[in-house]
Amino acid sequence: MGCGIAGQAAAGFLADAGHVVTLLERFEQPQAVGAGLLLQPTGLSVLRALGLEQEAVAAGARIDGIVGENQWGVRVIDLAYGDLHPAAFALGIGRSPLFDLLHSRALGAGARLVAGVEIVDVEREGARAVALDRKARRHGPFDLLVVADGANSALRPRVFPRGRAPIYPWGCLWTTVPDTHAFGAIGLLRQRFAGTSSMMGVLPVASDRLTMFWSLPTPALEVDRALDLEAVRHEALALWPDAVPIIERAFDAGDFARATYRHVSLPRWNDGPVLFIGDAAHGTSPQLGQGANLGLLDAHALARSLAEAGDVPQAMERFAARRGPSNRFYGTASHLLTPFFQSHHDLLAIPRDLLLHRACLTPPVRRLLAGTLAGLRRGWWAADTLDADGRFPL
Ligand SMILES: Cc1cc2nc3c(=O)[nH]c(=O)nc-3n(C[C@H](O)[C@H](O)[C@H](O)COP(=O)(O)OP(=O)(O)OC[C@H]3O[C@@H](n4cnc5c(N)ncnc54)[C@H](O)[C@@H]3O)c2cc1C
Repeated sequence: MGCGIAGQAAAGFLADAGHVVTLLERFEQPQAVGAGLLLQPTGLSVLRALGLEQEAVAAGARIDGIVGENQWGVRVIDLAYGDLHPAAFALGIGRSPLFDLLHSRALGAGARLVAGVEIVDVEREGARAVALDRKARRHGPFDLLVVADGANSALRPRVFPRGRAPIYPWGCLWTTVPDTHAFGAIGLLRQRFAGTSSMMGVLPVASDRLTMFWSLPTPALEVDRALDLEAVRHEALALWPDAVPIIERAFDAGDFARATYRHVSLPRWNDGPVLFIGDAAHGTSPQLGQGANLGLLDAHALARSLAEAGDVPQAMERFAARRGPSNRFYGTASHLLTPFFQSHHDLLAIPRDLLLHRACLTPPVRRLLAGTLAGLRRGWWAADTLDADGRFPL
């Protein structure tokens, strides 16, 4: 359930494997929601397995690394995918092209879409699960209900009342603008920060488009709260003079969306035939740029686990073994890192800038950090490596 990144990727894989797949989505017209994002080598491998990599690469912008500077222009973060393998790269991409690719792929594989149904509860019917929508209609029973309804999941508290999903104290404003000054041509996700309370990011998401992010405390992002865009424009211009054309264009258009994030932690991924994947299971702050990638990996791992196992309970065990360590690592690491980039504790910027600056100048540590960014970690002490072609081996 959920026509997001994780749900549609899972629908594509499962329909390919011959399962009868029904996609339940709350919107009448399923649509892309959210900011442009960075697909890591992990997520790109999943797209390749779906046969979508080439189209995604054509629609997005190749990203070779990330660079972060403080307000004085000192380079604090400098990581390159090329340190892992000369052919490795990530991809900045808009939500709409990614949504379109996954949507046609899922439906093309035979998944049936039931749109305009907001699922609010689940019931068990023997070993199977029935989804109940807001109008008390019943959907199912299903051998497996895959819950991929995002970070604000309505089903999570019903199924896991003791699961936790606190909202982060900081979120962001974002907008996508034409790249009139070839800012994205160098193929980098660029960030600029002053202390921990001002941060701006610019991600190329197509050959001629950029997504710009601006960090703000969550209370300032409440829907009914008026935004003081002039004050933000002023601060942004002072923080990042080199980005003036982007900032001016973004604020002239004023077309900003607000985003908040949750730190989701569940005791386990499934309760019988109800499995949580994507942000519904392990939503996190976007500090490490992993959320969508983890959701894509979940989708792939689910299909493989079902193919290998004799029944659903066995498949759930295999899924948990495959995805648990990496999902938990990235959830915790993003959570620990977030206050160093988005918080009122400006003093945290001092150790951040000193340590990251040094780390990025030390080749083995720089490689370790690049591997973490690329999505390769399977926990604090274990990591995958890219294959001979510089790709993530699924
Ligand atoms: C500002 C920002 C920047 C980000 N940048 C990155 C990045 O660079 N790289 C990265 O990997 N990740 C990034 N992320 C995280 C990424 O957006 C999420 O991890 C990803 O979208 C999660 O996908 P999902 O399919 O789990 O959930 P979603 O994309 O949220 O999809 C959920 C779907 O379920 C549907 N739904 C919700 N409730 C119901 C219901 N009750 N009944 C039926 N349907 C329902 C929704 O309409 C939607 O279609 C970023 C997030 C933010 C906020």
